[in-house]
Amino acid sequence: MTQHTDVVVVGGGQAGLAAGYHLRRQGLDFVILDADPAPGGSWQHMWDSLHLFSPAQHSSLPGRLMPAQPGETYPDAGHVVDYITDYEKRYDLPVQHDTRVDAVRPDGDHLLVEADTGTWRARAVISATGTWSRPFLPTVPGRSVFTGRQLHTVSYRSPADFAGQRVVVVGGGNSGAQIAADLALDGRVEVTWVTQRPARFLPDDIDGRALFDVATARRRALEEGRSDTGGVASLGDIVAVPPVRSARDAGLLNVRPMFTRLTADGVRWPDGSHSGADAVVWCTGFRPALAHLAPLNLRGPRGHIPTDGTRALSEPRLHLLGYGDWTGPASATLIGVGRPARDAVQQIARQLST
Ligand code: FAD
Repeated sequence: MTQHTDVVVVGGGQAGLAAGYHLRRQGLDFVILDADPAPGGSWQHMWDSLHLFSPAQHSSLPGRLMPAQPGETYPDAGHVVDYITDYEKRYDLPVQHDTRVDAVRPDGDHLLVEADTGTWRARAVISATGTWSRPFLPTVPGRSVFTGRQLHTVSYRSPADFAGQRVVVVGGGNSGAQIAADLALDGRVEVTWVTQRPARFLPDDIDGRALFDVATARRRALEEGRSDTGGVASLGDIVAVPPVRSARDAGLLNVRPMFTRLTADGVRWPDGSHSGADAVVWCTGFRPALAHLAPLNLRGPRGHIPTDGTRALSEPRLHLLGYGDWTGPASATLIGVGRPARDAVQQIARQLST
């Protein structure tokens, strides 16, 4: 039986819930379909010691300040899950969990949303499926011959899984730095951290707040027709959150340039030397989870969907939220997703009122 509604939101992580908050305020009829059995989006799957790179109040969704976590300047992932779970309840958001959307198709002047628990016919769709389910693994020579463990950020949980082992962590972003630090500080793991280009730490007194301020200034400049002030990339890549700072200051973060290939039992360096390794953790980023939108045939360069703000250029009934700067500056962050969520819902409300 097909259900009818104004708006379907695909994905009930922070982005989907931020959209839900604004849809509620606009008085629109909507449903949020989320593949996870429980609230929290990908925060519930992140590793035990992960900490935010911004303080709580600078990691808040619309309408509700994230409470501070006692004793922590930068809250951990468990605190974020509690906050998102509370948010979903507090605003009584209609999230249908354990529901995976397989396809979104055109259907006359509506969109048909086909999920494993049913079908919805909607006048607009907001896709907020994040990137967690699309880990990116680079093509590196020898990956198929390495006999040790290989895992991506998404599968990393704790140093206990690597006690007594030689682990190579690949990736010069926040995940690479935090996982290399987590392993190094544990003391039972021999860690080598490799990056494509020299690791660039933000100054210690700068954290995610500055990243958001820079992204906001860039958006404002672009909106006002001024020259592009450049994104956060100009600042550096890594926020020196406490565990990263401790490992770095203790000289435990020995960074090396990327190896040239993997061998059966280790890595080959550019100078031809070899190091044994028992495991490789690929902290090499993600791609947007957009497979459910394939029937709409909207894919553009780099696997993105061309948008104007959040709205898909070739399908004005579809909005994309939370995937990164291409869907709004800092939109892939807790504090950054609120504004594009509000703008998307306001556009939808105008469109549905005509
Ligand atoms: P997600 O949290 O991934 O939620 C997407 C939801 O969509 C999930 O519940 C999933 O089950 C569901 N879904 C996916 N596909 C389907 C489908 N086909 N049908 C139905 N449901 C579906 N941001 C910050 O602000 N501060 C930080 O410190 C920070 N640190 C980060 C550290 C790491 C390691 C990573 C990976 C990201 C970090 N981020 C941080 C970025 C961002 O805040 C998170 O990635 C956040 O989870 C993005 O929220 P989201 O709602 O867009 O996606």
